[in-house]
Amino acid sequence: MKITVMTLFPEMIDAVINCSILGRARQKGLIEIEAVNIRDFANNKHLQVDDYPYGGGAGMLMMADPVCRCYDHIKEHAKAEPSRVIYMTPQGKPWKQSMAESFAQEEHVVLLCGHYEGIDQRAIDAIVTDEVSIGDYVLTGGELAALVVADSISRLVPGVLGKEESFQDESFSEGLLEYPQYTRPAVYNGQAVPDVLLSGNHQKIAAYRREQSIINTFNKRPDLLKQAPLTDKEKQFIHD
Ligand code: SAM
Repeated sequence: MKITVMTLFPEMIDAVINCSILGRARQKGLIEIEAVNIRDFANNKHLQVDDYPYGGGAGMLMMADPVCRCYDHIKEHAKAEPSRVIYMTPQGKPWKQSMAESFAQEEHVVLLCGHYEGIDQRAIDAIVTDEVSIGDYVLTGGELAALVVADSISRLVPGVLGKEESFQDESFSEGLLEYPQYTRPAVYNGQAVPDVLLSGNHQKIAAYRREQSIINTFNKRPDLLKQAPLTDKEKQFIHD
């Protein structure tokens, strides 16, 4: 799987993609993540990439031409045309685990980062297939959002997470939040780990964790329970 980030600040992307799990996965060749500098495709002496918006208003807008030329370059140098081009924008669809799962199936995804007041609409209309927001707030640029999206997609690519970092059981994988977890020591500050987790009885542990997941979701994100695949017994448990 390949992720290309189109940005005016490739150093922001490079600072993160060489660290920890993403860095290891790149080294092993499990995922390819690259940042391409949109400024390299400015077609003027001063490498200007932004200009005043028509109609007035505060701030500058990224011009369409460097963005489109940058995308053409990416396309020309790719094995096949990237299947998705995602514009990071506060106006986009809220990013969710289910979307990360869907994008992780793609061969090549491009993430387009805006800056300043955003990007000339004609570039967006020409190349973008999806618009994604990481939350109802406004960032200075799309780089942090692109890193969130790249990270959440990459960890779902087979082999990227080791067995010890598996995503199978975690929050959102079953439509629920994860259960509370504990590690050594068995008693900390007078608080003991629940007995069942020390019992070695896998069936009881699984049942306990499922129950705790439901309780956690009920307390923290009750909105998720409407969509979660619960048995009749579990629905009754919540009701009581
Ligand atoms: N003028 C734009 C608007 O009101 O919709 C906001 C522009 S913002 C200052 C600059 C860039 O940051 C955007 O083009 C986008 O790429 C990125 N950005 C800001 N907030 C974001 C969010 N919540 N999710 C994803 N990208 C965001």
